[in-house]
Amino acid sequence: MIKRIGILTSGGDASGMNAAVRTAVRSSIHFGMEPYAIYRGYHGMIRGEIEPLNSRSVSGIIQRGGTLLKSARSDQFLTAEGQAKAVEKLKEHDIDAVLVIGGDGSFRGAQDLDELGVRVICIPATIDNDIACTDYAIGFDTAVNTVMDAVNKIRDTASSHERVYVVEVMGRHSGFIALYAGLAGGADAILIPEVPYSLDDICSKLQEANAKGKTHSIIMIAEGATGDPEAGRLPQDSPSVQVSQYVQERTGYETRMTILGHIQRGGSPTVNDRLLASRLAYHAIELLHQGKSGKMVGEVDHRLKTWDLHYALAQEKQLDLEYYHLSNILASI
Ligand code: ATP
Repeated sequence: MIKRIGILTSGGDASGMNAAVRTAVRSSIHFGMEPYAIYRGYHGMIRGEIEPLNSRSVSGIIQRGGTLLKSARSDQFLTAEGQAKAVEKLKEHDIDAVLVIGGDGSFRGAQDLDELGVRVICIPATIDNDIACTDYAIGFDTAVNTVMDAVNKIRDTASSHERVYVVEVMGRHSGFIALYAGLAGGADAILIPEVPYSLDDICSKLQEANAKGKTHSIIMIAEGATGDPEAGRLPQDSPSVQVSQYVQERTGYETRMTILGHIQRGGSPTVNDRLLASRLAYHAIELLHQGKSGKMVGEVDHRLKTWDLHYALAQEKQLDLEYYHLSNILASI
């Protein structure tokens, strides 16, 4: 019999986490269970930052970015002692099961908890969208819309001043934001960690486009896109700085760079993120109510699916390279 549900958000904040928390709280009550906040992710779990929530505690948060429950990283949780302490705190507060809302690091923590006998279900929330077994993670759609909006504005200046703009977005290991916002924002080149690129080839393409009358360009680059060391310079710390310098030197075109940084995380969640968060959280609470554990809920082809955490964490999330090829075709015409 599951009575008390602990709810936590962990890893980088993502818009839609609040919508998920709201649904988790109200669904727990719907199933006759008591929702509890575990503040600051695993950090707060170890410290026993656990308090009851009710339907009113989550009023007026569906439209807010960030997370009401706060988020924090916890190195202590990576140790056996830290995890034992976390389990002890859950027992002290009579928490029977936990909902984890976060990215793959948070999922690994949840898997450890499951192995220690804590019932746990995860739902994916990360702007990087780098979790397998779900098409999208909560927060990705909002982030990519924010980037597209920024690119729209940058394009006005790029076209007025006839410049090349290099726009750097988040994604240390994953090119989802760059790829989706690049295609949707009409970028002329998209540089992502998953696909090697040559700066010399990119410069040649810009010159070809210029010869056809194109007077401004947008190059979208993910922060982790390190390129091909054999062809052109290897970008190091901030790839956009290196790429913009290289392009300006090689082509002579006036080039500017913009690092969008943390504006990509927050903001009111999009419809897609609110719907995804609400559906995933409801289903996760239903599974906890049924006594299930060690699972994640994802959405694949618009349908909710439940996966074993072990399986999900062993899979590599694949980018759909059709987006990449389409963008290249459109930029080359
Ligand atoms: P995002 O990538 O969007 O920031 P995330 O969930 O991957 O989200 P992390 O910082 O990697 O973010 O993980 C959040 C927390 O989960 C960590 O601070 C740590 O306490 C715990 N965690 C991460 N990796 C592991 C692991 N391998 N085993 C156990 N716990 C982990």
